[in-house]
Order: sequence, then structure tokens, then C-alpha cells
Amino acid sequence: MSRPLRVVCFGECMLELQGQAFGTLQQTYGGDTLNTAVYLARCGAGQGLLVDYATALGDDPLSDGLLQRWQAEGLLTGLVRRLPGRLPGLYLIEVDAAGERRFSYWRDQAAARAYFDTPDGDTPLEQQAGQIDALYFSGISLAILPAAGRQRLLALAARVRASGGLVAFDNNFRPRLWPDLQAARSAFSAATAVASLALMTLDDEQALWGEPDAGRQLQRTLELATAEVVVKRGSAPTLVRGPDRLVQTVPTVPVAQVVDTTAAGDSFAGAYLAARLRGNTVVAAAACGNTLAARVVQHRGALLPAAAMADLLPAPG
Ligand code: ADP
Repeated sequence: MSRPLRVVCFGECMLELQGQAFGTLQQTYGGDTLNTAVYLARCGAGQGLLVDYATALGDDPLSDGLLQRWQAEGLLTGLVRRLPGRLPGLYLIEVDAAGERRFSYWRDQAAARAYFDTPDGDTPLEQQAGQIDALYFSGISLAILPAAGRQRLLALAARVRASGGLVAFDNNFRPRLWPDLQAARSAFSAATAVASLALMTLDDEQALWGEPDAGRQLQRTLELATAEVVVKRGSAPTLVRGPDRLVQTVPTVPVAQVVDTTAAGDSFAGAYLAARLRGNTVVAAAACGNTLAARVVQHRGALLPAAAMADLLPAPG
């Protein structure tokens, strides 16, 4: 059997509180890149994929608890930095009487922001760049980093590409995390320039570029120089475009009742990447992404119980 492929997802996972403020709250965890890492590890289990989650945590018991849960999900955590005295970020989800969810964040001081606060090249991620087969990060990974850290992440991505690795960028544009649109546009342009695969949600592209016309934005996104581009459009068919520039349409899976769209795109990314790294075509990979994401939107929360997706996984190879 060939050697396993090593995939690294870089970003921030936060502590999550959910429930009644000043009442009973349930505590768990969440974050876009962590969700992708978990789905990727599940889809890649027994398929020769090793998935690392790279981030920074504190040296506190909550950080210990996060690390243990990631490991229980099959993720490798050797690239996680532990920063004494720092803490993970935190968010609270409250649901109002109409069922609308309201998010409040405490993440400005989160440990993950300081991942690259070291002399250049000194993080475990940079030290192991030569052994990374695929790197995945998102617009949120870029947004949480200070400008110098963002440059270090992009330089790392360039090194992974230069040594023949895959670099996947998932747009996940969150305007509140950016000081202004210009900073976000320039970081996103740098990311799509360095990536070999761009996973783009059309709504986020429209918000980033201020383009009210979906058709016009779609055209621009498909024309990116990135070798492989996937455009996700909720329940509308997914579009994939490989290096041959041919645009292909992949239907989504009809869902009678959408319960919660949290992590739809993250699960799509995990399944898509696992399928591509196994050698599937862009169309077959998008079908895997759509199938898993359709399952995820029928469940509350970001992470499906593993048993609820076991039937979607390929037989161990
Ligand atoms: P994001 O979650 O990144 O905002 P989308 O809303 O486009 O991205 O959803 C990502 C994927 O989730 C879609 O490509 C599709 O596969 C799936 N999905 C989302 N909403 C639905 C839906 N209503 N019915 C079926 N699939 C859906």
C-alpha cells in the first residue's frame, strides 16, 4: 500500500455555549476548519489519509478538553501550539422565540490568533511544511490572524505548492472579522492565487466583491486563475471547473426539510477533499460533497454523529 497522505487543516476552533442566557447552557465546541477536519478524517478513515488540525490553544483545562475531543475524532494534534496563559475563543448561541439564532463572540484574544507569533519558520506547521501533502484553510483562518501571521500562512501555502502539495482555500467570508473590505479582498486574492483548489460559496463571493448580480459574480469566480474551482450555491447545483477550464454542473441532493445549515459547506469541503485525494474526478468529488452536506443540513449542529454518515463512506481500501 502507498504511504498515507498527510492533510493539515489550519484555523480556529472555539468553545461553544448554547441555550438560555442566565439559565442553563450547554458547552461544546465549533469552528469551520475544525468541522472540515472532522469530516475529512471520517471520510478518509481507512483510505490512507492522516488529518492534522493545526491551531493554537492555551495550557488550561478547557484547551485540554478540546484537544482530547479532536483526538477522539481521529485528528492528529502534533501541530497544535499550546500558549501558556492564553485561552481558546468562545461564542454563545441563543435561540429567540421565533427560532432565530443569535451569535455573540469573545474571540479577540483567542490563542489561535497567536499561532505565528514566533520567529519566522519556528512553528511546528512551518517546520513540517515539507511533509504536508495537502493544506486546507479558510477566509476565517485568514481573518483571525494578524497581518504578519496571515503572510506566514500564505508563505507556508506557497511552500506546500512548491513541493507538489495541494492547497485548498475555502472562502467563508465573515465581514465582521475584517477591519475593512479592502483588507479582506487583498487577502482573499492572495489566497486564491496561491491555492490549487478554491471552494467558493457564491453568496460569500458576492458579499466580498459587492456584486449584486449572482450571474456576473459566478462568471468572475469561475474565471479565477486557481486551477480547480468549486462554486457552492446552497440547494442549487454545484459548479466545478478543473484545469481544463470546462465548467460542469453537479446536482445537489434534494432535502425535504432543512433543519440547520451549520457546517453544510464545511462538510462539503471534507468530503470533496477526501474524494479528490483518493483520485476521484472533480464531478465525483462534488457529488460526494453534495451527498454529505445534504445529510448534515438535516441534523442540528455542525457535527453529525459518525454513525449517521457511516453508510456514505467508501469501504476501507
Ligand atoms: P456554505 O455552507 O459554505 O454557506 P452553501 O449554503 O452553498 O455553503 O451549502 C454548501 C453545500 O451544502 C451545498 O453545495 C449543498 O451541497 C449543501 N446544501 C446546502 N443547502 C442545501 C439544501 N437546502 N438542500 C440540499 N443541499 C444543500
